[in-house]
Order: sequence, then C-alpha cells, then structure tokens
Amino acid sequence: MEREDEDEIKDMGFFLHLRLLLIALSGGVPCIHAWGKEGHFMVCKIAEPLLKEDTMRAVQDLLPEVAGGDLAAVCSWADEVRFRYRWSSPLHYVNTPGVCNFQYKRDCHNSKGEEGMCVVGAINNYTAQLQTYGDSSNQYTLTESLMFLSHFMGDEHQPLHAGFEEDEGGNTIRVRWYRRMTNLHHVWDVNIIETAMKDFYGDDLSLMIDAIQRNLTDGWSDEIRDWESCSGKLVTCPNKYASESIRLACDYAYKDVRPESTLGDDYFFSRLPIVQKRIAQAGVRLASVLNQILDASVGKRMARMLQK
Ligand SMILES: [Zn+2]
Repeated sequence: MEREDEDEIKDMGFFLHLRLLLIALSGGVPCIHAWGKEGHFMVCKIAEPLLKEDTMRAVQDLLPEVAGGDLAAVCSWADEVRFRYRWSSPLHYVNTPGVCNFQYKRDCHNSKGEEGMCVVGAINNYTAQLQTYGDSSNQYTLTESLMFLSHFMGDEHQPLHAGFEEDEGGNTIRVRWYRRMTNLHHVWDVNIIETAMKDFYGDDLSLMIDAIQRNLTDGWSDEIRDWESCSGKLVTCPNKYASESIRLACDYAYKDVRPESTLGDDYFFSRLPIVQKRIAQAGVRLASVLNQILDASVGKRMARMLQK
C-alpha cells in the first residue's frame, strides 16, 4: 500500500529551519505527513512538561544532538525516514476491512501479512525496546526507538490512521477543504489544524498548544486518569487507542463525507474539538508511558549500582 504517495508536499515557513535540520539528520528528502508536522510537534510539546525529572534525564540522554534537547524537534523524524526505512512505512497506521472496530489479529499486519507490522505493533515494540534502557549499551537503537515511539503515539491518535483499507484511511477520498482540493486523510493530518491556527491563533503554534494545555488542567482534568490507564499491568495499550481512533473515524471523519464533498465551517467546527482532544490524549499517553518505563529503568540501574 502506497498511501504516502497520495500525501501532498507542504512547506511551512515556520518549520523550514527544523526541516533543514531534519534533512541533515536523515539524509533524505522529507515529503510526507501523518498528522502534519504541527500535529506531531504539539503532541510532543504536550508530553514534555509532564515528564518526571528522571524520565527527562533519560530522554535527554537518548535524544540525538540535532534535537537540541527538545523531544518535539524530532517527533516528525519517523516521517522523514519513511522511504529510507521502507519497512517502517506500514508502521504509521492500521486499517480495518471497512468496519468500525479494531482487532489486532485481523488488522495489524503489513501488505505481506506479517503480523505486528502496523502502528499498534510498532508502539508495543518500541515500548519494549525502551524498557531495556539502562541494560543496553546500544544507545543508537534506543535513540531511534524513542523517536519512533513519540511519533507513532501521535499517529495512532489521528482517527484516520485507523481507517478503512479500501480508501487507505481517507487518502483516496478526494474532497474540497473550503475551496481547495485535497483528500480526507490530509484534512485530518493538516487542514483542520492549519485552519484553526489561522482563524484562532494568529498562525502561532505555541498559542494553540497553550489552549490545549489549558483544557488539560481545566475541562479534561477529570478524564486524564482514564486516558492513562490500561488494563492489567500494561504500561501502554495501543489496542485501546486504535479502537478509539476507528470509532472516531466512523463517527466524525467519514461521517457525511462523500467523494468530491465540499467540507467547510460545519465540518471544521464539529471536528476541531476531536482533533484537539486526540492531540492532548496522545501527549498525555506518551508522557505516561515514558514515565513508567524510563523511571523504572532508572530504579533498576540504581539497584545494580548499589549491588556493585
Ligand atoms: Zn507518521
């Protein structure tokens, strides 16, 4: 499946500097999006202040130099290497056979049918890898694990990253966003965020992040514990996030949309709250999993040091 080929190239002046850094880092030409760069940047910016001190120290230790100590600076890295690491391309999403529920065994595979090769398997895999922090001397791999996990946690919360196989998560549904032709997937990756930034936040991403953070301490504060909790002793539960996403895809993203539909104010105002909440949830859950695994590893290393 080549859904990434459908994506549009988009240059945001705001991120030009960052893009250049990332090109230098990846050695590749960045040209695709999953949440746009803004979406991923916001997810990681929401997560950052929620990291505990020890977690932050481990994150700093793992981040590549080009990040300048800022996790958000490398949250789109996985998109930049999507062509260089071709195997990683299916890890950005999961598809269902046209139904509004997710089943791991049925849905989580790549086009060759290899199990686990979807965003759900990727989150499980990179979480497990990061749990070896402190045991492993192979820090380069864990640097990539951190960047992959931070990115995929964002992707999985974009409802159309758990969409229908037939339309490649909305990529093949051509629609008009106000007056411009685009596709439904791109509307959710980029256009809703872009329009919100222009209409409400003076094109200043930090103001949009502030607004989401205010909601976290205000309107959504009662829900955060639920967002973080997984059944049993799991530190992360990507099955649950995928189930939520496909439900939202059916109830909001696909709803009332037909090929060649024009989507405008009605769609924008009713879907923007979903986008903002999903970004918040992804950020909170990213922080939660990092706190659980990196804090624990600090404890483990301390115990080992004390034994010596
Ligand atoms: Zn992605």
